[in-house]
Amino acid sequence: MKLGFEHSYATLPARFYARVEPAKVTDPQVVIFNRALAAELRLDPDMDARQAAAVFSGNELAEDSMPIAMAYAGHQFGSFVPQLGDGRAILLGEIRDRQGVLRDVQLKGSGRTPFSRGGDGRAAIGPMLREYLISEAMHALGIPTTRSLAVVTTGEQVYRTEILPGAILTRVAASHIRVGTFQYFAARGDQEALQELLNYVIARHYPDAKNADVPALAVLKAITARQAALIADWMRVGFIHGVMNTDNMALSGETIDYGPCAFMDRYDPSTVFSSIDLGGRYSYTNQPGIAQWNLARLAETLLPLIDPDEKKSIELATEAIEGFVAQFETAFLAHMRRKIGLDSAEEGDADLISLLLAAMQKAQADFTLTFSKLSRVADDPSNDAAIHELFNTPADIDGWLKAWRARLVLDPQTPAERAETMRLVNPEYIPRNHRVEAALQAATTGDMQPFNDLLGILQRPYERQRDAAEYTQPAPSSDQKYKTFCGT
Ligand code: AMP
Ligand code: MG
Ligand code: MG
Repeated sequence: MKLGFEHSYATLPARFYARVEPAKVTDPQVVIFNRALAAELRLDPDMDARQAAAVFSGNELAEDSMPIAMAYAGHQFGSFVPQLGDGRAILLGEIRDRQGVLRDVQLKGSGRTPFSRGGDGRAAIGPMLREYLISEAMHALGIPTTRSLAVVTTGEQVYRTEILPGAILTRVAASHIRVGTFQYFAARGDQEALQELLNYVIARHYPDAKNADVPALAVLKAITARQAALIADWMRVGFIHGVMNTDNMALSGETIDYGPCAFMDRYDPSTVFSSIDLGGRYSYTNQPGIAQWNLARLAETLLPLIDPDEKKSIELATEAIEGFVAQFETAFLAHMRRKIGLDSAEEGDADLISLLLAAMQKAQADFTLTFSKLSRVADDPSNDAAIHELFNTPADIDGWLKAWRARLVLDPQTPAERAETMRLVNPEYIPRNHRVEAALQAATTGDMQPFNDLLGILQRPYERQRDAAEYTQPAPSSDQKYKTFCGT
């Protein structure tokens, strides 16, 4: 059987990866298969379940696959690790999708590789379904992300703090090249590999950079622009990635690595969910600063490719990285303007938005609900009770509502247009933490119904769906803070 795989990455020099075979598993069973994505990849969406289980567990290798584990390094929580690499992931090959774009098809949880270090190369069903659910929700929210094609249980057990059913996720990505991939070669002083990797990244992701005066600089600028846009997208929906290590930043501009991520409920910029992020390095509000820090680590690896004169190289790279701040702020302000129903720009808009966020923070108002309710009351103050509910007292938000409506008068949209544009940018449904946990809990014991129901809702986040009101609600308040875990 052939799946139409190409192998552009595997044609790079041998030191870019290790050839490796997925481990055979005892009893592969498809838990979920993404038929729409399969069709996008020109795979058979109606593939026989046994066949799908065999292929997406790695038990049966397509004749045209060429499995490899990619080499990379990375800064984890600020400390450099010169060798990480795919410790439990295997790239089967690349498929040209319906748009003609090359997409990586990778198994995650498919056994040990030369990069596994102490790990078992395996994954448990909960975290793989979590990645499936949240990555597909991100896609539906219109945010660049890796996608999920399938989750297959292995029939084997994995040993974590408890014994859990093993599973394998098939992840689809524009590519799996990370900041850490450049760092891997830079740490080894391998200039030739750096140049080769740069050429590959240009050809695959940034073809316009090829004809630039300084291609390495043009790529750095283009990656910076995509990251600024990506982080602004995260922030507009309250997404907290949770582990923005340099090995978890994809150069394609897609969100990657859904280990400890979660969506913020109560608005607090210092929110952290990851159990290991004790210092709050990857908190909601720190995300733009960390993205820029990661880009600076990327820039360091590119210096020799920018200009032979190191001083000049540093100057040019610094300027490129410094551009991030304005790009992020411009993108974020544009999102926030749309979120509060503005289709025009005025001097005081940033202040108006800051005042809203300050009031939300003071009241610990739910981030998603605040904006979805604002979209219902923009031109109809008779419904303000819906907003008041989210604040301690009406007085906490009435002053802001008054200032907001005074600003709306200057905006050219009709009330009907505004209601529609606000609906289109303010999701009704995000993956609420307690819903995600309940769905994963049920799935772990074999009941996929809550997961499938939730996934169905999250695939249309901006539509007000019938009988789905309960999905808009945050968890009932509890003393237990929600916690997430990496790589289980
Ligand atoms: P992450 O925190 O998911 O970005 O992973 C960091 C590194 O740990 C990567 O090199 C992973 O491949 C590796 N890793 C995570 N879990 C496992 C595992 N169960 N077995 C082997 N390697 C792993
Ligand atoms: Mg990772
Ligand atoms: Mg991970």
